[in-house]
Amino acid sequence: MERIRMTTPIVEMDGDEMTRVVWKWIKEELIIPYVDLKTEYYDLGLKNRDFTEDEVTKEAAYATKRLGVAVKCATITPNAQRVKEYDLKQMWKSPNGTIRAILDGTVFRAPITVKGIEPYVKTWKKPITIARHAYGDIYSAVENVCPAGSRAELVVTAKDGTETRTTIKDFDGSGIIMGMHNTDASIASFARCCFNYALDTRQPLWFAAKDTISKKYDHRFKDIFREIYDKEYADKFREAGIPDYFYTLIDDAVARVIRSEGGFIWALKNYDGDVMSDMLATAFGDLAMMTSVLVSPDGKYEFEAAHGTVTAHYYRYLKGEIPSTNSVATIFAWTGALRKRGELDGIPELAEFAGKLEQATINTIESGIMTKSLSVLSSLENIKVVNGRELIISIRDRLEELI
Ligand code: NAP
Ligand code: MG
Repeated sequence: MERIRMTTPIVEMDGDEMTRVVWKWIKEELIIPYVDLKTEYYDLGLKNRDFTEDEVTKEAAYATKRLGVAVKCATITPNAQRVKEYDLKQMWKSPNGTIRAILDGTVFRAPITVKGIEPYVKTWKKPITIARHAYGDIYSAVENVCPAGSRAELVVTAKDGTETRTTIKDFDGSGIIMGMHNTDASIASFARCCFNYALDTRQPLWFAAKDTISKKYDHRFKDIFREIYDKEYADKFREAGIPDYFYTLIDDAVARVIRSEGGFIWALKNYDGDVMSDMLATAFGDLAMMTSVLVSPDGKYEFEAAHGTVTAHYYRYLKGEIPSTNSVATIFAWTGALRKRGELDGIPELAEFAGKLEQATINTIESGIMTKSLSVLSSLENIKVVNGRELIISIRDRLEELI
């Protein structure tokens, strides 16, 4: 059989621990036999990040800007214990944070749904994708404790030195305050990422905030989304047959989400997105069934699994055991990248192959073959629990049937 040819390479970011092992299995068994795989390889494994003083992470992000499509393996974000374990020169920053800062993107997370793993919410028939604004708000806020009898004020000093003061609170007893910010530029780029992704995946877009209470802060988000939509996207949505962009108050949104059938993108401010994405991941089933894609405002894509390097499994692997690691989200990171590359380069066979690999993966699980953590959640009868390696071999068998 002739392997599918590629023209432009995909940026391949290798990673750490168990996911690095799974990464190799996926490439060897599920991709290279069928695709004449072209990648620009960057080793983001912790040892190499330390060796290159983290330059490799930046190079990989710039390569993504240049080539447009990347796939990333999970990586360790070092803490004090990791600095010791790997004898690191310093506590390097989170690679995802570095990549996000360079690409200036929005992260979209969506569950992979299969028969047998039913969402806890009975009405949900299709996945719900969360778009989380990954800049500002409480994540870069300053806070203070205020003693009894103190006055707390917001002071804005303009370029010419003029001050605008707003009293936050005259404290009788002691209390606390917080100052947070966002920028029009970041909100605008968040909005454009969301509108582009909605067009790209042909899904409706919802955005929800608390503009009735936060009349300047949250209202700003609402206004910027509306202005950009009306000016740049309303016609495109109509042409694509996607319902008009929908804003609603966040309280109303949570009620609608629970009663919905799914199948839309839910854009949220930083904190709301943080909380709601964990809620949705659990409600749909399992972290190892969650995909994640970073989309930049100028349309560059970086695909990955939402979970980490599965450290406990790796330590067992080092002792000679083949752990029951679920590779589904990592497989979908690869198929996401292959499909996007196929679409951009006009290679329909590549996008078709990505679809078949996803179908083979879903067929495998729906036939009852799955890893341990998924088997606990599944309502199927006759489940065969397999280890991480066996799962990939079973998926390859199903893929052979489809090709
Ligand atoms: P994790 O690797 O996602 O694992 C947490 C637990 O979830 C695992 O111990 C395992 O439970 C279960 N799990 C997650 N993915 C699984 C899979 N594919 N198959 C089966 N079980 C799975 O998160 P963590 O333990 O908090 O973090 C480990 C390392 O990953 C850290 O160094 C962290 O910095 C890094 N991390 C990286 C990323 C990223 O690169 N995007 C994201 C998060 C964390 P059981 O042990 O009970 O089986
Ligand atoms: Mg969270």
